[in-house]
Amino acid sequence: MTADVPTLLLMIIVTSLVTSGALLVLNGNQRNDGLQYWAGGLLLSALAHALLLLYGRIPYLLAIVLGNALLSSALASFWLAVRRFHGLALHWARTLALLAAIALLMWLLQHQFASRVVIMGLILGLQAALVLWVLRQRALGAEQQRSRGALLLVCGLGLIVLTMLLRAGAALFFSLNIASILQSNLVQTLTFMVSFLATLVSSFGFVFMAKERADQANLRLASQDPLTGAANRRALMQALETELARASRQHTPLALLMVDIDHFKRVNDHYGHLAGDHVLRHIVGVLRQRLRASDVLGRYGGEEFMLLLPDTDLHGAAQLAEQLRQAVQAAPCEWQGQRIPFTVSIGVAASADTPADPSRTSEALLQAADQALYRAKDDGRNRVALA
Ligand code: GH3
Ligand code: MG
Ligand code: MG
Repeated sequence: MTADVPTLLLMIIVTSLVTSGALLVLNGNQRNDGLQYWAGGLLLSALAHALLLLYGRIPYLLAIVLGNALLSSALASFWLAVRRFHGLALHWARTLALLAAIALLMWLLQHQFASRVVIMGLILGLQAALVLWVLRQRALGAEQQRSRGALLLVCGLGLIVLTMLLRAGAALFFSLNIASILQSNLVQTLTFMVSFLATLVSSFGFVFMAKERADQANLRLASQDPLTGAANRRALMQALETELARASRQHTPLALLMVDIDHFKRVNDHYGHLAGDHVLRHIVGVLRQRLRASDVLGRYGGEEFMLLLPDTDLHGAAQLAEQLRQAVQAAPCEWQGQRIPFTVSIGVAASADTPADPSRTSEALLQAADQALYRAKDDGRNRVALA
């Protein structure tokens, strides 16, 4: 099966142009995720394929020398896009040196079609492999969630690597039986058909990666307290419902701690609000150090924090609360060379591990912990009280 090469080239040009335009319009200039480099790569690719399409009608210098250099710069631009996405340095000097080397090679190989195909196949294949390498390094480096966008991108780039190596191999070991880039045969059809598909698939993948990142950032914004980085009240309430449902399903207890800083108003009055903010961040650090991965810590309001302890009964929660109280007392906050000592009062409540227990509603559990907290305050502060 063979297809008309100029038609395939035209498909690549139009797809790249439209995708690039859409990306540039969508992206604006407000983000830092490398989308503009990807759009630039698509534009370069469209231009490169347009020059190849005009082979024979424009000078060799433009069609082949510039065309191939632009093809390589398109892949270099994708590489830059992925590096920018991951916050890595952009190596402009290396990129430009590669392009100059390609232009020189194409100039020297004017009359050797097969050699040009082999060399360009190898270079483009290696460039795509280099982008894959960056993705692999990042995936190994950070214990990221599996990204569907990255998976698509890997598929697209993998297709490019395979086709380019196949093309180079075909030209090296068998004769391609064509004299120009525009002639059709199986290898040519495969090359440009796959280039077309890879352009689509990898572009979708990259856009998806950016979308996934934006979604994650939004999720963080919606669920995190901006001052302390702990869960915000919305996220806490959601976690409480989820954990209650799980505890009920698994017949396990769930404990809830209300932690309130004692006389926090005095801290603000005496040291200033910025110092107060620092104390709030400090206490989150102190509490976090003593929690399990499954525990949820959040800022319930002002200087009041809530802790959810799955699979913990009242007795275990009381022990942890006492440890937390002592830890806070033992770790005064340092602020601009001053030590700010402070204490907390903690109210502890737990849902029993029987499914019929009336304390198994979020309201009942919250109210019980809150009442215990008030008792701790009434009894003189810097103490733990049980519901
Ligand atoms: P108690 O021991 O009874 O809990 O006394 P308190 O002073 O801690 O409690 P009160 O409710 O009277 O005051 C809480 C203070 O917390 C008042 C408010 O200005 C302060 N606050 C709430 N949110 C923030 C914040 O984000 N930053 C700072 N610096 N202060 C805050
Ligand atoms: Mg307080
Ligand atoms: Mg309070």
